[in-house]
Amino acid sequence: MKPWEKNVRKVVPYVPGEQPNQIGMIKLNTNENPYPPAPGVREAIKNLESDRMRLYPDPTADLLVSELADFYHLDKDQIFVGVGSDDVLAMCFLTFFNSQRPIFFPDITYSFYDVWADVFRIPYECQPLDENFAIVKEDYYKPNGGVVFPNPNAPTGIGQNLSDIEDIIRHNQDVVVIVDEAYIDFGGQSALELIDRYENLLVVQTFSKSRSLAGVRIGYAFGNRTLIKYLNDVKYSFNSYTMNYPSLVIGRAALADRAYFEDTKARIIATRERVKGELSELGFTFGDSQSNFLFITHEKVAARELFEALKIKRIYVRYFNKPRIDNYLRVTIGTEEEMDALIAFLRKYLQEKETEASGENA
Ligand code: PMP
Repeated sequence: MKPWEKNVRKVVPYVPGEQPNQIGMIKLNTNENPYPPAPGVREAIKNLESDRMRLYPDPTADLLVSELADFYHLDKDQIFVGVGSDDVLAMCFLTFFNSQRPIFFPDITYSFYDVWADVFRIPYECQPLDENFAIVKEDYYKPNGGVVFPNPNAPTGIGQNLSDIEDIIRHNQDVVVIVDEAYIDFGGQSALELIDRYENLLVVQTFSKSRSLAGVRIGYAFGNRTLIKYLNDVKYSFNSYTMNYPSLVIGRAALADRAYFEDTKARIIATRERVKGELSELGFTFGDSQSNFLFITHEKVAARELFEALKIKRIYVRYFNKPRIDNYLRVTIGTEEEMDALIAFLRKYLQEKETEASGENA
């Protein structure tokens, strides 16, 4: 090691899902929305003023913050925006998790949390999910330096009911509690209504999933004015212009079309419920996902084998080689046609395995 390397901040980075780009591929590996963004987004992009790009964007991101305030019936000073919810969550970790005590999050959860904790030198302790992959709320009643969990959780898709979430917040009023609601629009119960009652609560959401804008990078947090002010102070000590002009305009256009938002959400939920039935018939089991993905396991065939076989057919799903979940696949809900192709492949693959096995036993 070179002398200067001794003082390098070394980290093991988060590894995002693959972004293959193949003709005819079916991409069900990173929980993107299979439908395009609202039609108004296309118009907004056409009307972007290139001369505006000469100027720095509005550091307060007011165009987007005001639209979010209208949509969610909040005041502007209860909202913080960032470059995807990853940026918002990273800012939250940096701002609020600054104690000697460990922060708590589930053992099976969004795999960015331990990376942020490491990079910011925040001690942490994982609390195990129960055998059904549910959060055990009592585990969060011990002294800690802060709490963060997704609802619905990822990669399990399991939602926690609001009264359990409130219990966790109530037991942790001396620290900040972050509820990461990246997937909330697909069926979970949002904790947004609790922000007026708990001044230590932050609710984080994103445009990447339910608004089909993963490529634009917009995320936001809701919380009381004091929390939002602390977050903005750290943001302005880091980078004043996180939200570029096109993303402000695009984000505003996406929010303006409530009917399209409701319609695409409903389509994804309907496809999810349909696919659940078909997967059960094929011998898969899974929890009751309230998100835009299913976390599935098969009684006879290993997840890794299925993952590899699907990949050969250019059907991409996510496999995590991690304790407790290394026999599961996380499958994003795509269009009806994409899910038909997935089911058809799985049916054929499993039938062939069955035939092989009975041949061997004959
Ligand atoms: N939280 C969870 C639980 C997620 O799965 C993701 C998506 N990878 C994010 C946050 C971040 O999403 P984005 O930065 O695209 O808003």
